[in-house]
Formats: sequence, C-alpha cells, structure tokens
Amino acid sequence: MRAYERLLNYVKIHTASADDAECVPSTERQFDLARPLCDELKALGLTAEVDEHCYVRGWLPATPGREDAPCVAFIAHVDTVPDFPGEGVKPRVIENYDGGDLPLGESGRVLTVKAFPHLPKLARRTLIVSDGTTLLGADDKAGVAEVMTLLEELNEKKIPHGKVAVCFTPDEEVGRGTAFFDVLRLGADFGYTIDGGFEGEVVCENFNAAAATVSVEGFNVHPGEATGIMKNAALIAAEFAAALPADETPATTGGRKGFYHLTDLSGNVETATLRYILRDHDAGKLEEKKATFERLVASCNEKYGAGTVKVEIRDQYRNMKEKIDETPFVVDLALEATRECGVTPICDPIRGGTDGATLTRMGLPCPNLGTGGFGFHGPYEHITVEGMDAVVRILHAIVRRVSEMKK
Ligand SMILES: [Zn+2]
Repeated sequence: MRAYERLLNYVKIHTASADDAECVPSTERQFDLARPLCDELKALGLTAEVDEHCYVRGWLPATPGREDAPCVAFIAHVDTVPDFPGEGVKPRVIENYDGGDLPLGESGRVLTVKAFPHLPKLARRTLIVSDGTTLLGADDKAGVAEVMTLLEELNEKKIPHGKVAVCFTPDEEVGRGTAFFDVLRLGADFGYTIDGGFEGEVVCENFNAAAATVSVEGFNVHPGEATGIMKNAALIAAEFAAALPADETPATTGGRKGFYHLTDLSGNVETATLRYILRDHDAGKLEEKKATFERLVASCNEKYGAGTVKVEIRDQYRNMKEKIDETPFVVDLALEATRECGVTPICDPIRGGTDGATLTRMGLPCPNLGTGGFGFHGPYEHITVEGMDAVVRILHAIVRRVSEMKK
C-alpha cells in the first residue's frame, strides 16, 4: 500500500486533541486511531503496544547479521489541532494538478498561489486537499502513514535493517506530546520525528522559549478625587507593553532574530495582566529578553511604588541545536539520505518548537523531518502523493545507512 492510501484511511478517523484537558491523552478519541495503528504494527511483524496515555510503541527486530547496528526510532503524532474542525474529513485527490489556484469543494475557500507560493512547484503532481470545511489531517497522519509504509516495505521486500523502533504519540498539538514519552522503554539510540513540511526538510534548530505573565496591581478611587492617588493598572500595563522594542515582535522579525510576543492583554483600573511568549534561537539572547522584563518591572515599581508590577517567567522548551551538536552524525545521516534520494535538503532553523527538541533534551537526539505537507492547522492543508513517496524513500535511505553502522 502506498503512503497516501494509508493517509486517506487515517484522516477519516477524528483525533483532535483538546487544549483545556489536564490528562494525556486530552481526548479519548485519539485511541480510535492509536489502537488500529497498534494492530497494524503487529500485522507487519512488530512487537507493539498502546499504553494508557495513548502512546503506541513498536519494535521491528534487526535482520540476521545487523544486530549490532544502532536502533533508530521514527516518531509521529496521531492528534490533530483542536482549533479547526477535524471531523468528517473528506479528502480530495487531484491528479495532474495544474499548479494554480484551486477551489476547495463548495466551501468557498480557495487554495491560492498568493498564499502558498510553492504551489506551482507541485504542478503535475497528485495533490491531496480537504473539501475546505475541515483540515486535512496530514499533520501528522502523513508522518504516521510514511513510517507505516516504510515498515511494510522493509518486511515485504526483505530489506536488511537494524532494530527499528516506532512511537506514535498523542497531544503533540496541545504541547503535551512528550509528557509521558518513555525514552528508556523505546530503547532507541536516536530518532527522527516525521512532522515537518516540504520533503527534504531536516530541522535541527528551533527556538528557545519562555512565557511571561506580567500582573499589575492598581489603586482605584473616584476619578474626581484621584489627584496624586489613583494608579490605573490598565494604563501602567499599556506603558509596560509600549516600552518593549517595537522591532522585536513576530511581525517585525525573521530568520534567527527572536521576539517578544504579546499574546493576551486584559485589565481595568484595578488590575491588569499581560501575557507574553519570548523566543530566541540563541539561549543567551533569550536570557537577555528575560532580563529586559525584570528591568522594566523594576523601573515601573520605582515609578509607581513597590509591588505594583510583578512578572512570572517560565521556561518552555529549548533549542535542540546545542544538544544535537553532540551527535552531529544524526543530522548528517538525514542530510545524506535526503541527497541520495535526489532531494535537496532544507535545513533552516524553525521559528517554533518540535517534540524532537524536547526528546533531544530527554536523551533521544531527534531532528524533525518533512512529511511533504503544507498549510498545516487549517482548511488549506495539502500534500502530494509524490512528496509522501519521496519521504518514504528518504526513510529507507536512513534505515540502510543506520544498518551499516555499529553501535
Ligand atoms: Zn504536527
């Protein structure tokens, strides 16, 4: 079965995660895909299990003579984003796509070259889209389908390989995909998440991330008797926001330049709250951003009185780069495997995070590879049959190269 055929099956199963849940998985429906995936792994000759947190794990033993090779893991997630409908997906397969604007069913939405300038490059390929009323679910069911197809082909074509581990995870889209990830149990030496965009993408550099909550305590009296007394929390909050550099926001930065991003602002005379996320590829520069917050808080308190403004800063995730540099072969291997398949690798730093970044920190070096999909998290999600086939070939090339290594 080709990877896209599996994708067409998987996207029919609704697996949206939920933002507000305390537990993992955040939604029981993720088991609706996890369980059949576990069965499919077993049918392909793997030892497989699905645990109470909805992690599917499988292991394909090494073929004779390859037992000394390292164990490589392939990881993809089963959930889809909660922010856009993911139920009742009706995928459309467009053969010989012309590379131009494409109306998405009767939805009134149009996939346009203006919004997705890479579309002309997909001309003559077979394009898969949704009908515009739901997301497609290629993020990350394409990754799951590609890994599954790899395993099937290793088996059917009797290709020599070392031990291969797989893990399909829940709740990646709500930031909890690694919450119960058992690195020891998986037992792999290194791995790859298959959860990126264009085929040939190899991500080994992501943001360092922190979140900051600024709370302002005001002092409210009748405005007619407020002279020299009132402290307007909303105004102080606005002053705080305006004091941050205007050229360091998501809209005014790119490449390796980090930002302060105000995600939420609420308040009145009495109290006000500002929520930020801070991002930078450079760990030192992220620390500087945190220090800027502390400085601003101090100067506000000097002006308005001690305790008026408080900030709470919480680290979120780290750039995998510094850690992955300890095992550069994991990245080189993916780059060489990609080139071997006639695909030019793209190794740009991403302006976000990946589960692989956390896994790398947890001791499983784990760059992120492209799935061949684009426009994730909404109705414009699309992927090509040829792109998915290329990813499967790249995974094969990785497995072959790993099978020739010694632990
Ligand atoms: Zn994803």
